[in-house]
Amino acid sequence: MIDSSFPTDADVVVIGAGALGLATTFALARAGAGRVVLLDQFEPATQASARAAGLFKLLQFSEVKTRLAARSMAIVRGFEAETGVPLPFVDSGSIYAARTPQHASMVEAEVEDGRGWGVELVRIDNAEAHRLAPYLAGNNLLSAYLVPGDIYVEEPRSMLLAFWQAAERLGARVIGHAPVTGIRVEGGAVTAVETPHGEIRTPLVVDSAGVWSRIVGRMAGADVPVQPVRHHLRITSPVAGIEAKQPVVRLIDAATYVRPARGGVMYGGFEQDPLALDPETIEGFSMDKLPFDHHVNDRFRDAVIDEFPDLATTTVQEQRGGMFTMTADGMFLVGPSDAARGFWVASGCNGSGFSLSAGIGSVLAEWIVGGAPPFDVSALDPNRFATENLSDEELRGAGIWQYVNYYTPAGA
Ligand SMILES: Cc1cc2nc3c(=O)[nH]c(=O)nc-3n(C[C@H](O)[C@H](O)[C@H](O)COP(=O)(O)OP(=O)(O)OC[C@H]3O[C@@H](n4cnc5c(N)ncnc54)[C@H](O)[C@@H]3O)c2cc1C
Repeated sequence: MIDSSFPTDADVVVIGAGALGLATTFALARAGAGRVVLLDQFEPATQASARAAGLFKLLQFSEVKTRLAARSMAIVRGFEAETGVPLPFVDSGSIYAARTPQHASMVEAEVEDGRGWGVELVRIDNAEAHRLAPYLAGNNLLSAYLVPGDIYVEEPRSMLLAFWQAAERLGARVIGHAPVTGIRVEGGAVTAVETPHGEIRTPLVVDSAGVWSRIVGRMAGADVPVQPVRHHLRITSPVAGIEAKQPVVRLIDAATYVRPARGGVMYGGFEQDPLALDPETIEGFSMDKLPFDHHVNDRFRDAVIDEFPDLATTTVQEQRGGMFTMTADGMFLVGPSDAARGFWVASGCNGSGFSLSAGIGSVLAEWIVGGAPPFDVSALDPNRFATENLSDEELRGAGIWQYVNYYTPAGA
């Protein structure tokens, strides 16, 4: 609810209270960025981020993303000790595996890159894969690696609430039901954001509006080229022998992930013909209004059932869907926009925004407060598509390609 103390001035206004906005707000408050206000059009922490599978992975197909993943995991691991706010996570590790020669060679290539970027990876055989993750049969894996450093968060909203609580303890304000309807730009610089509750004067705005980032960007005259693409997952009824600490399993050839969840397993995957959708085409769009297709989950179950035989007898405990915010090259959009001084972007999650949010928030905070990012993040420059003039059709095609090839960005 909005109260009479709705702020009129801020040093930074963050737009969008998902994982990226909440992590950035926490990091800005921690870095001493002054009066930090986070606005959300809905109840905070209820959109794409609250629906995530909660998976964190170190193998990210790019050095900068691997670095951000490692940074995020370090923040999550140390969060409670640093802030006093609990952030429950499971130190499960993960198994990265493939059943076809073509995908096995992709795993090997990714492992070589990952090792070069400092990721610990242990080659395992079928028997060891089954011993570590008894819910995985381990019959036909041609290549399998244990990634001991990987973790997951059982209930994704718990991480969002932890960032939120820690940010407020540090003095930031998180305000829901406050849609940003305009961004004032004067003399080429951001000067205020407008909401139905009044305007907030500010020299700096961070657009972390998820699938709505493009709409928010337009308010400041910026193109934020993102393509929303739907993603589903399913949690099964309990499975005998499942324990939370058993590793997550990623089967690359089926583009499917499976992990322990609430006594059963959670699985989801990256279909070949995903639904790409522009939120502006659905009146008052929120993730609740996204059409749901349970056949997607059925197909992923069937594609991996040989390796996960329990899936033949489980029933559905929960299914949920949401949208990824894809970019044309599969990389985030992070940093200052050239469109207006003071307009910054934290978007383009490409399906990893939950797990990389803590790292991205900390990088942005260091950059905004200290004047430079802690390491080279130019690959994420939000202005990098400016000269390409991507048509909506090209962006859509490229975004879908990136989604389909989430586990195989080198092109399977
Ligand atoms: C089913 C599913 C499983 C996933 N699994 C994983 C996973 O295991 N690991 C992983 O890393 N990622 C995963 N993801 C992806 C991850 O959820 C996203 O990358 C991440 O949530 C993106 O965070 P966000 O903050 O950009 O978006 P969101 O969480 O959607 O937040 C954006 C916020 O902006 C607000 N907003 C928009 N416009 C305005 C406005 N004008 N004014 C005020 N507020 C506004 C919205 O209301 C929303 O709350 C998954 C996604 C889905 C759908």
